[in-house]
Amino acid sequence: MTQVLITAGASGIGRAMAEVFADQGAEVWITDIDQASLDTMPHSWRKTCLDASDEVGVRALFEQIHDEWGGLDALCANAGIAGPTALIEDVSLVDWQRCVSVNLEGAFLAAKYAAPLMKSAKQGAMVFTSSTAGIYGYPNRAPYSAAKWAIVGLMKTLAMELGPFGIRCNAICPGAVEGPRMEGVLEREAELKGMTRDDVYQGYAAGTSMRSFVEAKDIANMAAFLASPEARLVSGQIIAVDGHTENPDPKV
Ligand code: NAD
Repeated sequence: MTQVLITAGASGIGRAMAEVFADQGAEVWITDIDQASLDTMPHSWRKTCLDASDEVGVRALFEQIHDEWGGLDALCANAGIAGPTALIEDVSLVDWQRCVSVNLEGAFLAAKYAAPLMKSAKQGAMVFTSSTAGIYGYPNRAPYSAAKWAIVGLMKTLAMELGPFGIRCNAICPGAVEGPRMEGVLEREAELKGMTRDDVYQGYAAGTSMRSFVEAKDIANMAAFLASPEARLVSGQIIAVDGHTENPDPKV
């Protein structure tokens, strides 16, 4: 049975990933900082309350995975926070560091401790959640965009480093995904640009050729494919699941 670890699995994209993997018969282990949300997740999932950027906690988690599962087939390094929506001159160093830490160091730590488990099994798949902010510029979201670009660099490097051990690494770049997290971004952008929330929302959708926001399950389905044997020769790829944006309008 496939054994998969999903960071930030108690909400949104991570939760949808856990549901899709579980529906496909995988054993699921999720982490999140939100204990109350973890408590509402299915009993059959393993759960650990953990900050993805806490190395001591991540190391202990992987020791537990080693003891209980003996290995790990797939890692979805998904934890991330939006960080500030602000002009660069208004971004504090503290906010910059926290955003980069959760997004990038969270992915680094998960990969660092998953790699030995996967290497010893000579197989594995790492799926990193980047963003379309990791393939385009994203005005007013400097720390987030910088971290998501860095995740792509991390993934590309690990694909080369770990490929000879049978480990595949890919990054999914979600577009704007429906949900509470995006609501916060829409509201802050509307305030910053003197627009209504609905106008900003419509602008996001209009910026895609499919004229659509994305659903968390769209991302989860791609993660499940990338972790599956059907994707056995797919590695080092940046896959946008975004309704297709070539050149998003920075005014949106
Ligand atoms: P979400 O807010 O719905 O869920 C995020 C989860 O992460 C929450 O359960 C929260 O408790 C948890 N979390 C927050 N900080 C954490 C930390 N330090 N350690 C562990 N868990 C933590 O968010 P989402 O929309 O599902 O986002 C998931 C990933 O997808 C993130 O990496 C995000 O950057 C990326 N992404 C989201 C969108 C979008 O439109 N929602 C677009 C592109 C990329």
